[in-house]
Amino acid sequence: MPNSLNPRHAVYAGSFDPVSLGHQDIIKRGARMFERLIVGIGINPDKSPLFTPQERVEVLRELLQPFPNVEVACFEGLTVDFVRRSGAGVMLRGLRTLTDIEEEFTMTLANRAMANEIETVFLMASEKYSHISSSLVKQVAQLGVSSADEPLEAFVPREVIARLRAKFRKPEETGRIGF
Ligand code: ADP
Repeated sequence: MPNSLNPRHAVYAGSFDPVSLGHQDIIKRGARMFERLIVGIGINPDKSPLFTPQERVEVLRELLQPFPNVEVACFEGLTVDFVRRSGAGVMLRGLRTLTDIEEEFTMTLANRAMANEIETVFLMASEKYSHISSSLVKQVAQLGVSSADEPLEAFVPREVIARLRAKFRKPEETGRIGF
């Protein structure tokens, strides 16, 4: 089968539940490297995410408006199948820690066994963001109170903060319950 995948087109896949400053940094850098970058939101029916696929698409589209060569889409199933359907020849990944390297190495070999025509390209996380993960963000949002010094500013783009706060707002804070 001829390889019709475009090596200048890349897919950056993940859960983005929610998108963090670390993800945003990889997307910005990827947008400079590739003609077209597709941010693929992987939907896993076995997981219960904080944000619905539609909410994740919405915030990513808002955030990525200034980047005309970046698209956002959802997918179910194997990432390599989504990459193929997108016509991209590259899978873009971010690397934070040694643990990431080990996991990504195994994943890349598995992906290569299934789709030898797709190359994986890794970008090292910026030192400013290498400690950030979506699960850490959710923990901080759940435990940290919203104040003048918003702790979430260090982890997620501004567009995500209000949405996170709304998810963890206590019923009495909504004003809808009470006497
Ligand atoms: P998962 O697929 O495990 O849910 P994520 O959606 O969080 O992972 O991340 C998708 C990709 O983004 C992965 O390649 C991951 O290593 C990378 N990534 C996640 N957080 C960061 C960060 N803070 N800096 C750089 N890359 C990151």
